[in-house]
Amino acid sequence: VIPDRLRRLIQLLSRLPGVGEKTAQRYALYLVTEASGLAADLAVELAELGKRLGTCERCGNLAEVRDDGSVVCEICLDRRRDPALLCIVGRVQDLFAVERSGAMRGRYFVLGRLLSPLDGIGPEDLPLDRLRARVRADGVKEVIVATPPSVDGEATALWLARELGREGVAVSRIASGVPHGGDLEFSDQITLGRAISGRRNIDTPR
Ligand SMILES: [Zn+2]
Repeated sequence: VIPDRLRRLIQLLSRLPGVGEKTAQRYALYLVTEASGLAADLAVELAELGKRLGTCERCGNLAEVRDDGSVVCEICLDRRRDPALLCIVGRVQDLFAVERSGAMRGRYFVLGRLLSPLDGIGPEDLPLDRLRARVRADGVKEVIVATPPSVDGEATALWLARELGREGVAVSRIASGVPHGGDLEFSDQITLGRAISGRRNIDTPR
């Protein structure tokens, strides 16, 4: 009874995180029946996003594509930020979470993924060269690793401490408080702010 095109929309919506088949159907029906221009607005925005939204060349944050085709985010352009302090996160969502806490006065670097031996993701899959270039170009002195408190997050933090320690950079890790296995994204601002101010140096065997 459901037309193919509507079924297609339901399938697409159900691929969103936290959206099951039923919710997807509710959203799809809302879009095509209640309207109020939402479907048209969404269509325009989504089409524009593909063209106008890119990844910051310096840090990996999301940012608008500029007229000359370059992409540099607001945070990287903000001169009030301390260039010598760099916060490394796994995903853009985590950058947003740390930024919401208001506790970070430096800039960021988004790894894009975490080390995960079980999933076959090794150091060669992480953008170490880009990170090193960034550290050298900006004269970074301190790195705060804000990867999630999971096995992969810890492994990534240790690896970063070793690699960046060789560059003469002090590497610290956000303190506990964010529940183990928890998502930075869902930590409240105060907890995350405390985790950042209570960061600890990572000791690495040389
Ligand atoms: Zn940036």
